[in-house]
Amino acid sequence: MAVAEQLAARDSRHAVPTTMRAAVYRGVNDVRVETLPVPQVGAGELLVKVHTCGICGTDLKKIATGSHSAPRIFGHETSGTVAAVGAGVKGFVPGDRVVVFHHIPCRDCFYCRHKTFAQCETYKKVGCTAGFEPSGGGFAEYVRVMDWIVRDGTVSIPDGVSFEQACFVEPVNTCMKGIETLRLSAEERVLVIGQGPIGILLSVLAKRTGAMVITSDLYPRRLTIATSFGLQNGIDASVDDTVSTVRKRTEGRGADAAILAVGSNALIRTAMDAVRPGGRVLLFAQTARGEAAIDPAAVCVDEKTLLGSYSASVELQEESVRFVMSQEMNLESLISHRFSLSNAVEALHLAAHPQPDSMKVVIQPCSDFGGS
Ligand SMILES: [Zn+2]
Ligand SMILES: [Zn+2]
Repeated sequence: MAVAEQLAARDSRHAVPTTMRAAVYRGVNDVRVETLPVPQVGAGELLVKVHTCGICGTDLKKIATGSHSAPRIFGHETSGTVAAVGAGVKGFVPGDRVVVFHHIPCRDCFYCRHKTFAQCETYKKVGCTAGFEPSGGGFAEYVRVMDWIVRDGTVSIPDGVSFEQACFVEPVNTCMKGIETLRLSAEERVLVIGQGPIGILLSVLAKRTGAMVITSDLYPRRLTIATSFGLQNGIDASVDDTVSTVRKRTEGRGADAAILAVGSNALIRTAMDAVRPGGRVLLFAQTARGEAAIDPAAVCVDEKTLLGSYSASVELQEESVRFVMSQEMNLESLISHRFSLSNAVEALHLAAHPQPDSMKVVIQPCSDFGGS
């Protein structure tokens, strides 16, 4: 190819069309694939062509409960290629492979000073949008990344690391934050209820602290998948009682800690019964507001502690990036289903109704065009 042709080919690869497809949330359980204008970027901003966007439990919750006004474009576990840069952007050029966080705290307010970053007003302001009220925007072909996210929440993907691996930076961060909240020490025994992709991730990170991990799931298939990540102590909850099995494996005491990686509130009781007196229970998947039954004496008399962790911590950003990019864990292999944007509705449906063999479900907007 002549030099001019090569340059033209390179330019066309980064040429940005005027319209794109996006999966638009239009109301409760109503997501439609629509054609929209490609977002314009201003000074300090980036336009990213989305390669892979993971579907998160919080996206599903928002779609199913109508907790947010419509229309919106969700999706925040986004990796892709820089397609355009706004005036004054330093450090990124078109063609760079990146992963973007969708919100970053101010590090200065009351909540930031108390390290509860997810409660910071700046943090709640979402800095990535594919149109409408900023809501992540990863379920679209192109996403606009606003200036403060370009500065503090955009990470280059090293050569040799796939877009699929890279899109796990945000979920890994949220799981690391949960593990940190639980303050596990080496030799402690921790039960992780639920072995979906997040349960497996939490289990691997818990094991990394030196703790002994016991896993449980109603689907034996998921326990088998978990063993491929080095998680050998599975309880098949479809045949064995989780609480008594955990007690048997802990000299009758119960686990030192338990993590609930399943949304069902009925399992809060299971988790609390499975820990020893003085043990801790981390609610990781209880994102829907409501009421749940607990035994108050388990907290008062048995001195068990209920803890929660939600969203990411800016203080764990570097460590989560290192964990993902070093490929210490093959996160890509947690992906069981890849959907094009045209099939985004099907993708969301599957993610909301997990099957024994479904793990992480991702949407790959550019796969409609033969990949990139
Ligand atoms: Zn997420
Ligand atoms: Zn703040």
